[in-house]
Amino acid sequence: MADGFRAVPPTLARYRVPRALLRATAQTLRDLSRDAIEAVVLWQGHVVSEVVAEATELVVPEQRAGRLHFDVPLDERLRLVERVAARGEFILVQVHTHPAEAFHSAADDRLAIPRHLGALSIVVPYFARDWDGDLRATSVHRHAGAGVWEELPRGAVETLFEVTP
Ligand SMILES: [Zn+2]
Repeated sequence: MADGFRAVPPTLARYRVPRALLRATAQTLRDLSRDAIEAVVLWQGHVVSEVVAEATELVVPEQRAGRLHFDVPLDERLRLVERVAARGEFILVQVHTHPAEAFHSAADDRLAIPRHLGALSIVVPYFARDWDGDLRATSVHRHAGAGVWEELPRGAVETLFEVTP
């Protein structure tokens, strides 16, 4: 393992995401949402360098959800962080579904699970019903600090993620 990133560097500019993890993300969100409720999953991963991170695992947290919200209880959040840290990794990205359009709501700003500077939050529209994992069909938001999340333009999304075999 790359030595000693104790925190996620805010300079990350590229995330390697295995194609199988993207597929599993789409399938899991679809199964959890069942076209009726929001669902959330997380991408665990490690930091390769100041600018590159690699998603390694799909994490499905214990969650309560309704048509317009999801909630991951605090004790589950703490368990997750502990488990991931024990492996020298981080929760890098949150991915959740919306019933219709993809955007970051005020609740999403407030309740996002990864909260480090530069954390990513991806919103998948239409309960991921027909989503094949193409990130260009989602909205991608980056934590700019102090609970402010900025939506990334399409061009930035395309260079931010590298889908790996
Ligand atoms: Zn949301």
